[in-house]
Amino acid sequence: MKQKGTLIVLSGFSGVGKNTVISQVLAQRPEIHFSVSFTTRAPRTGEVNGKDYNFVTREEFQARIRRGEFLEYAEYNGNYYGTSMKVIRDKLEQGVDVLLEIEVQGAAAVMDKMPEAVSVFLVPPSFEELSRRLYARGTDDEETIQKRLAIARQEAKEVKNYMYIVVNDTVDHAVQEFFSILTAESCRAERRIHFVEGV
Ligand code: 5GP
Repeated sequence: MKQKGTLIVLSGFSGVGKNTVISQVLAQRPEIHFSVSFTTRAPRTGEVNGKDYNFVTREEFQARIRRGEFLEYAEYNGNYYGTSMKVIRDKLEQGVDVLLEIEVQGAAAVMDKMPEAVSVFLVPPSFEELSRRLYARGTDDEETIQKRLAIARQEAKEVKNYMYIVVNDTVDHAVQEFFSILTAESCRAERRIHFVEGV
């Protein structure tokens, strides 16, 4: 029987460098399917519809909620974010690993519905460094940055519910730690029991 794919849930404070780490991960492992979320937030400069997010109106998002299309969704900083269920289920069935990049409430919902998911939280080397990175990114105004830092302090309380913590001191190091987790997960006895079946 074909192995099901692994569902990997990655969360991290806003500004920690999730996108950079993810683009490195996907560059090195193009076979991983990155789930493109739906959001009602406005696109940032350089973001591409259908690649970074599916950008939709609040009305469309709410219609999708009513139709039960989301595996999970959450409101974050005044905008909706959600993961479409269908693509993920299909990919996992086909044996493809799927990476979700979602915030803590959505991650909690996924861990609840799919306890076999591997959950990873990406942290900065320090909180001061996180603040520095948010200012350096230059995409948000002072008020938004302060809001994001306040959200990060709340999110920090949920980190203990994750299976793994990866430290993003350098991108290479974070990517290496991330791949170590995937390697360990693929070596779990339950995934390798076929080696001894019929012995
Ligand atoms: P940003 O606006 O910086 O792209 O994302 C804000 C937050 O929303 C991040 O913490 C990101 O992980 C989270 N996020 C992105 N997509 C989803 C999703 O589909 N569901 C949930 N629950 N959170 C998401």
